[in-house]
Amino acid sequence: MSLPQFKLLRPRALGEALEHLAKHDSNARVLAGGTDLIPSMRQKLFKPQYVLDIRHIAELKGIREQQGSGVEIGALTSLTTIEHSALLRRRYPVLTEAAATVASPLLRNMGTIGGNICLDTRCLWYNQSLTWRKACGFCIKKDGDLCHVAPGGTKCWAAFSGDTPPALLCLNAEIEIASPSGLRRLPLRDFYTGDGLAYRRLQPNELVTRVFLPESSADYRGVYRKLRVRGSIDYPLAGVAVVLKRSNGNVADARVAITAVNPAPLLIKGAGELLAGKTVDEALAQAVGDLAAKSAKPLTTSALTPEYRKEMIRLFTKRAVLAAANN
Ligand SMILES: Cc1cc2nc3c(=O)[nH]c(=O)nc-3n(C[C@H](O)[C@H](O)[C@H](O)COP(=O)(O)OP(=O)(O)OC[C@H]3O[C@@H](n4cnc5c(N)ncnc54)[C@H](O)[C@@H]3O)c2cc1C
Ligand code: SF4
Repeated sequence: MSLPQFKLLRPRALGEALEHLAKHDSNARVLAGGTDLIPSMRQKLFKPQYVLDIRHIAELKGIREQQGSGVEIGALTSLTTIEHSALLRRRYPVLTEAAATVASPLLRNMGTIGGNICLDTRCLWYNQSLTWRKACGFCIKKDGDLCHVAPGGTKCWAAFSGDTPPALLCLNAEIEIASPSGLRRLPLRDFYTGDGLAYRRLQPNELVTRVFLPESSADYRGVYRKLRVRGSIDYPLAGVAVVLKRSNGNVADARVAITAVNPAPLLIKGAGELLAGKTVDEALAQAVGDLAAKSAKPLTTSALTPEYRKEMIRLFTKRAVLAAANN
């Protein structure tokens, strides 16, 4: 599949990138590692006039510890760098574990944390070639007006299928967004809309520039569990992140988040309260699994049945809670 024609823009500094975005706005697409954007362009899901290749903006790369206030990660930091960071592994292990499961080693070398956060939602009816989509009928997410997954509805239910966002949600991460009018910072949990079409709160002239992990989330035990068809390379079909801190053998604080079963990654409401002050045993871990499964609303957007994926959320959450409590 060939790439559509486009003009490549290669800024070397953030200011220059923002100038391009201010000028070309929705006619431009941002390229970081390109591991998702390029296949999507080959499938003609996007035909931008301009591709803004931000890979050479050095100031957006790297992991920096801020004494007493956590860690800052540049949006262009590769997933491999995150996976192998001794600092992150020691202080925020759920993130290194989740990053290590993304795609394959080669894709992690190219793929960035910013790209993983901004990843487009996915659906069996959408991530296909133009010929395939034309033959089967276009849908709301691209060029059509109906949904094959939920016929009769007006909403797109494509699943958010990134691995690191549930880990980042558990860590109460914040992101920095740059636009021609300045910088803004927002909790990652407010970035996703829950709509498969307009899935993120990001204007065409904005860039995600940094991720902040607060000091208050450091040193939690962390576990990430993921369901995929091929163990060596595949998007998640269900994913669960758990962080947990213990005190005197009981849970002092915990958070659970899921991915790939809704149009947005989700923090599970009530999971922390359910665990707080208790000793984790099978029954408690099962109760948290049941709670997570209630929030999982998988549809036929992905391989494997929705029922199976929901059950895997239940089981993986239980296992992840037990593992986080015992590791
Ligand atoms: C075979 C295969 C398997 C994969 N498996 C997985 C998997 O298991 N788990 C998973 O999470 N992902 C998977 N991916 C998707 C992808 O490799 C990763 O999500 C990767 O982290 C994307 O990062 P990137 O830098 O390559 O993003 P890009 O492809 O460059 O960009 C992705 C999207 O984010 C936007 N974007 C990127 N950076 C920014 C920024 N800083 N500000 C604003 N917008 C931005 C782009 O415009 C684009 O819309 C897979 C991809 C392939 C091809
Ligand atoms: S959920 Fe429906 S509208 Fe969205 S991509 Fe799939 S078929 Fe299209």
